[in-house]
Amino acid sequence: MTQISNKKPQRRRDDVESRVVDLDHIAITVKSHKLLKKLLKENPNLEEIMQNAKNEVEALEGVRNWVMDELRERPEVLRFYRGEYPKGQRRDFFQRLKWHDYAAIRLLDYIDNAGKEYPDLNLRGEIAISNPIKLIWLAVNHGTGGAKPFFFEDMLELFRQFSGRNLPNVPSEEQVMAWMKRYPSGLDPRIIKLREENRERILKIIIKKIDSGEIQDRSYCFDPGMTEDQKFSLALEWWKESRFHLQFAVRSPQLLNEMLGFSLDPDTMKVLDSAHKAGIPFFINPYYLSLLHVRVPYFAIGADLAIRYYVVYSKQLVDEFGYIVAWEKEDQVKPGKPNAAGWLLPNRYNIHRRYPEVAILIPDTMGRACGGLCASCQRMYDFQSGHLNFELDTLKPGKTWNQKLDELMDYFEKDSQLRDILITGGDALMSSDKALARILDAVVEMAGKKREANKSRKEGEKFAEIKRLRLGSRLPAYLPQRVTQGLADILADFKIKATDVGIEQFVIQTHFESPMEITPEVREAVGRLISSGWMVTNQHVLTAASSRRGHTARLRQVLNEIGILPYYTFTVKGYMENYFNFAPNARAVQEQIEEKVIGRVPQEIFDRLRQLPGKSELMPHQVRELREEKGLPFLATDRNVLNLPGVGKSLTFRVIGITRYGRRILAFDHDATRVHSPIINRMGKVVIVESKSISEYLRQLEDIGENSDEYRGIYGYSMGETEPRMPIYEYPEYEFKISREFTNLEIKN
Ligand code: SF4
Repeated sequence: MTQISNKKPQRRRDDVESRVVDLDHIAITVKSHKLLKKLLKENPNLEEIMQNAKNEVEALEGVRNWVMDELRERPEVLRFYRGEYPKGQRRDFFQRLKWHDYAAIRLLDYIDNAGKEYPDLNLRGEIAISNPIKLIWLAVNHGTGGAKPFFFEDMLELFRQFSGRNLPNVPSEEQVMAWMKRYPSGLDPRIIKLREENRERILKIIIKKIDSGEIQDRSYCFDPGMTEDQKFSLALEWWKESRFHLQFAVRSPQLLNEMLGFSLDPDTMKVLDSAHKAGIPFFINPYYLSLLHVRVPYFAIGADLAIRYYVVYSKQLVDEFGYIVAWEKEDQVKPGKPNAAGWLLPNRYNIHRRYPEVAILIPDTMGRACGGLCASCQRMYDFQSGHLNFELDTLKPGKTWNQKLDELMDYFEKDSQLRDILITGGDALMSSDKALARILDAVVEMAGKKREANKSRKEGEKFAEIKRLRLGSRLPAYLPQRVTQGLADILADFKIKATDVGIEQFVIQTHFESPMEITPEVREAVGRLISSGWMVTNQHVLTAASSRRGHTARLRQVLNEIGILPYYTFTVKGYMENYFNFAPNARAVQEQIEEKVIGRVPQEIFDRLRQLPGKSELMPHQVRELREEKGLPFLATDRNVLNLPGVGKSLTFRVIGITRYGRRILAFDHDATRVHSPIINRMGKVVIVESKSISEYLRQLEDIGENSDEYRGIYGYSMGETEPRMPIYEYPEYEFKISREFTNLEIKN
């Protein structure tokens, strides 16, 4: 079981309500003063307002009048700001906004929300207060307010955008392609060679440990008298088996360092040692370890960072482990009580549910583990409690699982709206072939019963039938050796049986982070999945390292080359535990508008795109054909979104506040293109306080070798609009009308 740290919470001392009055009296730093001076010099109007205002209220009024004056001739901007656009036309209004309008709306939102308090779960629920105009007023008139340089940097950029001093600088397609070229893929012969070196180093360490008796394993041992060459050849055979990699996964920082040729620096080791002590599991299998560079040739400098930072823990994660709260409110389930979206669930652990149409199934099998532990996993909450773990022997399904599975299927069968089941974990493919086949058979049986029961229901009273089955797995990236022909046969067989009971969509929903994860082994594994008739889609998490210019675009391109379609690009979820990997939502919008745009799928090929899953085995070929025909470097079939607590995926937001430390406060609307439970439809906006300021993010990028000037426009992306879903991801229509009644839902007034 994972241990919970018993250390006391460390409180971060910013934006805390009890200290607000004190902070108002705190002198700003010299650096803040200098930035303030620059701000006033560039904006004489602002200086005049601040100097003439007798108090913060007058300062707020002064800035509001100024902004309103500027917008006098732009009534459509005011309509957007006030939400007074006709239903369904929000997107059109949004697209007509100019760069300067973004700033005007942000200033008005800052004023409207001045003094509001927000629980900040980055600070374990302390209250964050936003009042940026007051902070400027205090700084101008008293030299106080405690606002930090990151705050002033953000304000400087805001007023530059408002005054027209900063104009949008959207890069050309050539520029984006040049950025993409910075990132080799794992299929590059030079990278393949490097990985072979890594594999040799790792295997030689394992061989040595077997020889010395440090590792004793009945399956992985040598006959007496074997030469070194024979041992190595045998170990190369083991390398092809997923069991070998699970057996020899690294579970301690010391072994990790040894396997990496002692290349980890002392600071990293210190963090990893404390992670180990705090009870954060370590689980990096030899294959995935071989993707990390020890010797870094010139052409591959920094190329593995998105991988490295995905498995090497940060100090903030260590500090927060033991105090991490669930990001998804629906994940907190109390027996017999509805979850945050109102869904009644058969038990606490096996089903997660947010939307009427979808249920997530977490089996009591090895599927509760993963092929590795991603440092910014949203399920760290569950790893923290020990519910998800890497004690693989204890995760084998117990006697009660079969009975439980029947109960879960009964729940699905009796649900009026459910049409899509996502089997995940942990990781769906961590389940053994036998356990997975058992679950898939149960799904077929249930879908058949659901269909049969509908025959006796009237039109308009029929229940939704199962149309889509998804397996959520990062094993194609972590451990492609798991995708054997045996597994592909199970999937192909399931597809035949499931098609008979009306299931039409079969999706492996995988999770690649970097083009460097696409190796020859991955290409082969994905090829097998595709040949079994399943579509493979990708969910990418936009971490700081993977958000570097061109990185995500290049990932989409390499995914397409092996037949995978991008599905989502997610902002990192969670709170301060994910500070290190977090890239602000402004970067997600910038990526969407400035980089992803070169792969935008033209409307005239939507129909052909919709046909792709029908012949998924031809996917790589068809995707290539479409790209070539339209001259696209990749098909941007994904949506950049944040998976919001409670209400689902969205990038429809406005920055409505900012803390003195420059961390932005965002108000999100839920995804209006989806069907939600009535509770969610009634819910207002969801407010998020980001864990990192834009300035901190840019400094972090500089630390990993980026030129922050290439990102400069990021400050301006203070609003977003969720992209429409690609038709390929729509559910098939029913030939009958389904019931409007919701089963398994409890709504209290
Ligand atoms: S594979 Fe998925 S569930 Fe497992 S650790 Fe990674 S993000 Fe979390």
